[in-house]
Amino acid sequence: MKKIAILGATGSIGLQAIDVIEKQGYKSTALTANTDSKKMETLIRRCKPQYAAMASATAANDLRIRVADTDTKILSGTDGVCECAALAENDICLNAIVGMAGLRPTLSALQNGITLALANKESLVAGGDLVKNTAKENNVKILPVDSEHSAIFQCLAASPQNGSLKKIILTASGGPFFGKTKDELKNVSIRDALKHPNWSMGAKITVDSASMFNKGLELIEACHLFDVTPDQVDIIVHRESILHSAVEFADGAVIAQLGVPDMRIPIQYALTYPDRFESPSESIDFAKLAKMTFFDPDEETFDCLSICREAFKKGGLYPTAVNAANEEANRLFREEKVSFLQISELIRTAFSIDCAQKTYTLEMIEDVEREARQRVLNRVGI
Ligand code: NAD
Ligand code: MG
Repeated sequence: MKKIAILGATGSIGLQAIDVIEKQGYKSTALTANTDSKKMETLIRRCKPQYAAMASATAANDLRIRVADTDTKILSGTDGVCECAALAENDICLNAIVGMAGLRPTLSALQNGITLALANKESLVAGGDLVKNTAKENNVKILPVDSEHSAIFQCLAASPQNGSLKKIILTASGGPFFGKTKDELKNVSIRDALKHPNWSMGAKITVDSASMFNKGLELIEACHLFDVTPDQVDIIVHRESILHSAVEFADGAVIAQLGVPDMRIPIQYALTYPDRFESPSESIDFAKLAKMTFFDPDEETFDCLSICREAFKKGGLYPTAVNAANEEANRLFREEKVSFLQISELIRTAFSIDCAQKTYTLEMIEDVEREARQRVLNRVGI
């Protein structure tokens, strides 16, 4: 019976992870969330974890009252979330927090030698080498939960030979605005952006999918996880979200991983790895699917993708800066304070920060984060 801490338990990935954990007969040692103490109460009564943490101190106080009759110990703030990530009894810490708020908990799990199942791509993008080196120094595995990276991870198992990988083929759904011109995107609303064709996800990543910033984050995530350069990653739009990504080896063989668009498959694989067990997900009906389509991404219209590539190539803390700027721009769009096309314009303000340093600490990362957020707010006059 594996023991698993779920960070971001009240979210889209967190709730699906709880389903997987229950079906596999695993145990949730700890659950964490940001502010929703009511939802957390329900989860505590359902999963009976040893610990639960709310990032918000007010929510933690409210939760303490709500679950006073249970044995769950309630922790508070980022420190409380990190404590849950680092519990000695954890076999795995699943980080499903949204945004770079997941960085400190990612580091806590790794520093304490706990295998990290990573959905929170922002912590790897923003933390870069700090996260990778912490994993290496502590000899800890990072298991990808993102569907594309889980696919690549599974495909790579087809060749035990180091150096045989030629390139990665990272698929993108294209989101709700696929095929639209800049002109047609001028007046799109948050409601339009939230209508993702294939996946039901949290609001931030759904907007990132619409702008394709998500694919930019995933490009950087792939470079870190699989030690490749951006030039070794081809991005291809695949509207059906059935082929979750592929790899091409030196001999020209392409191995792909396919499945219905159901996040429980990659979540489960990260949690049961290296084993595979039955899951409630449906099988692909190939005759019904009939065809799969592929297109080059339109990087001129969806320039968030090239922004991320540029940031990664510039190196240093530029990925941190563009990620933080996007978190602000994405939020402002969701709050209807800026337009959809302003998102990439605002993210570009991050490039004016001087942050090319090759080695960095957590404090330096957080300084750049604050600076990038502030530049976005200054630009919109807030
Ligand atoms: P969500 O918004 O549904 O849930 C986010 C969770 O994070 C919630 O439990 C929330 O309470 C918690 N949280 C938010 N701010 C926090 C903070 N400051 N401190 C601590 N906890 C905080 O998001 P989601 O769609 O589940 O996505 C979670 C992560 O997984 C993101 O990084 C996303 O990019 C990635 N991901 C999601 C999907 C998906 O299908 N939803 C797929 C691939 C990758
Ligand atoms: Mg993905």
